[in-house]
Order: sequence, then C-alpha cells, then structure tokens
Amino acid sequence: MAKAFECRMCGTCCYGEGGIHLEEREIDLIARFLGKPSESFLRESCEHRNGKVYIRCGDDGYCLFFDPQKLCLIHPVKPGPCRLWPFFPAIVADEDNWKAAQDACPGINPSCSFEDFVRQSGE
Ligand code: SF4
Ligand code: SF4
Repeated sequence: MAKAFECRMCGTCCYGEGGIHLEEREIDLIARFLGKPSESFLRESCEHRNGKVYIRCGDDGYCLFFDPQKLCLIHPVKPGPCRLWPFFPAIVADEDNWKAAQDACPGINPSCSFEDFVRQSGE
C-alpha cells in the first residue's frame, strides 16, 4: 500500500504564528533537552495565550526552533502537534479537511485514498 504521508522536509508546517502549544511535561522535557531551566526556556522561547503556552515564532515567521539546514532543532522532543501532523483528529475525521491539508503539506500523498490515510493514521 502506498504511504499516505511522507515528510518532504520542506518546513512549511513550521511557519506561521504558532498553533504549537505545549503541555506542562513537554515544557520540562524540551528545557532539559536544551540544557536549561524550564523558567529560562519559557522566558526565552515561549508566550502565553488564552491560558496556554506556545512556542514563539522568530522575526522570519518560522518557529524559533526551525533551522533551514537542520530543520527541527528539538526533533527528539518536539511537541505533540508536530509529532502528530498530519494525522490530526479534525483531518482524519473529514475528507474535505484532508484535501485542504494537502495544499499545506506536500508530504500528504494525494494519490492515496482518504480511507488509506485514515487507516494509516493508526499505525
Ligand atoms: S509541511 Fe509536510 S512535508 Fe513539509 S515539513 Fe511539514 S510535514 Fe513535512
Ligand atoms: S517544534 Fe520543530 S517541528 Fe514543531 S514547529 Fe517548531 S521547528 Fe517545526
């Protein structure tokens, strides 16, 4: 069966005002990975919005941890939404959302069926 998703390492999903929010345990995990106290990580790299903590974007509009050469600088501990993409519940549940996601992410295989995409979301 063809792969429904294979990341092309284009970095598009790391661009744009952040939907990348962090759970409490992810804050500690990333801070430890970066070798700094959680308070420093929060102060230097995060912002609070609507009672949640988000990774900030840089002046170029990309996530602060995006590097054009190395891509994600915190790859081993990257947040849940970054690990889950593109198998978000809203995309797995709705074929129109899946089609829309293809415009944003060249890694989603358009010649794969939606059914296969859903099937592979659980793998
Ligand atoms: S937009 Fe898709 S293909 Fe590009 S880096 Fe993100 S997941 Fe990979
Ligand atoms: S944490 Fe990594 S994968 Fe997630 S948006 Fe930032 S650079 Fe991209």
